[in-house]
Amino acid sequence: MGITRRGFAKGTAAIAGAGLLTGMGRAAYGQARPKVVVIGGGAGGATTARYLAKDSKGAIDVTLIEPTKAYYTCFFSNLYLGGFRSLESIGHTYDKLASDFGVNVVHDWAVGIDRDAKTVSLAGGGTVPYDKLVVAPGIDLIYDSVPGYSLEAASLMPHAWKAGTQTALLKNKIAAMREGGTFAMVAPPNPYRCPPGPYERISMVAHLLKTSNPTAKLVVIDPKEAFSKQALFMEGWEKHYPGMVEWLPASIHGGIESVNPETGEIVTGLDTIKADVANVIPAQKAGRIAEAAGLTNENGFCAIEPATLQSKVDPNIHVIGDACIAGDMPKSAFSANSQAKVAAMAIRADLTGSSKFPPRFSNTCWSLIATDDGVKVGARYEAGEDKIASVDSFISQTGEDAALRKTTYEESVGWYEGITADMFG
Ligand SMILES: Cc1cc2nc3c(=O)[nH]c(=O)nc-3n(C[C@H](O)[C@H](O)[C@H](O)COP(=O)(O)OP(=O)(O)OC[C@H]3O[C@@H](n4cnc5c(N)ncnc54)[C@H](O)[C@@H]3O)c2cc1C
Repeated sequence: MGITRRGFAKGTAAIAGAGLLTGMGRAAYGQARPKVVVIGGGAGGATTARYLAKDSKGAIDVTLIEPTKAYYTCFFSNLYLGGFRSLESIGHTYDKLASDFGVNVVHDWAVGIDRDAKTVSLAGGGTVPYDKLVVAPGIDLIYDSVPGYSLEAASLMPHAWKAGTQTALLKNKIAAMREGGTFAMVAPPNPYRCPPGPYERISMVAHLLKTSNPTAKLVVIDPKEAFSKQALFMEGWEKHYPGMVEWLPASIHGGIESVNPETGEIVTGLDTIKADVANVIPAQKAGRIAEAAGLTNENGFCAIEPATLQSKVDPNIHVIGDACIAGDMPKSAFSANSQAKVAAMAIRADLTGSSKFPPRFSNTCWSLIATDDGVKVGARYEAGEDKIASVDSFISQTGEDAALRKTTYEESVGWYEGITADMFG
């Protein structure tokens, strides 16, 4: 377990090993501050930890549990594949959360949640007590949803649906692809993280191959019949990459029967496709800590109260981001960031009596199709009785002029800078 040096220096946490703030620790500090523990330092968890610490001005003791020391954003990872960003530019550390906001950053895995004792146990040993817990572990992959695929197979057929080494591996495989080779993607079934993500990826890989390997082909083997921003992507593929991209819905390929990681074969009801580079993105569910704590439903995700993101099964736990069932909101970083602020406000109100305003949520998903050709889809949402419901929405149109598409792309670059600062300080 790693604990940030600054946390020790400031005494904001006085964490001494895994038996964090035991009775003795609390006594030593006289007044016990309420404790919030956040599991997962991604778009949802990092934002929640930062807002709780920033807005409570020290009144709440915030601990963030996250195994990795550098978080690589899935958002903009497709732009890295396309050659528009470096991997380094999408990596972020937790240093400022600790030094500027006093968050106790614990680099470890949460392996169990005892909801009666209100403690989280860590892989490194010990337990962390909480008054309120935020669960934001993102997704886990259901590898065997594609027969033949597995954790081990991901080194041969990378999913790259969690960013970092998987994304770099996929990029290296594309760079090493034979001339005129085939890039085949097995797209995921609903619900999955980032609805336009697979199709932005196809655009970015096509962009790269158009110059480096112009006779290469891209095939999307999709278990779905339709996808997000379909008209916009298809128009873009036709315009920028004519003849390169083939999209096959389930009604044409007849179902994905299996993959063979050794040979690169993808067997469908219609045909066997031999891929030179295969990108297999299996079905998804909430991160396994949510399941282990009994927070998931039969579909593998966590039901929440729309106005507070409180778990339907435990009011002391808030589940945000990809792991929760957020009604009309897509599983995106923008959504997770928006939900984090609502959850942080609800938690502060409960623990410190601060004001609580009606929750408002928003999301925009930008996608880059080719150089300076960006498109977007988005909405505003409110907390309804049963779900977070869309109140109005917008989407880019086909046939837009080049200047508008360039502005849309530039907006996305500004958004990236803004959201990563909002997450990590
Ligand atoms: C290719 C691609 C492109 C995308 N593009 C966009 C985009 O342009 N815009 C957009 O808004 N969204 C985009 N997304 C979606 C976005 O990345 C996710 O929706 C977002 O990251 C979800 O945030 P989260 O906090 O729920 O999960 P994550 O950001 O995945 O964070 C979860 C964190 O929890 C940690 N964790 C997991 N289990 C544990 C545990 N047991 N203990 C401790 N820590 C744990 C993980 O290490 C991770 O850091 C994209 C996704 C992909 C795959």
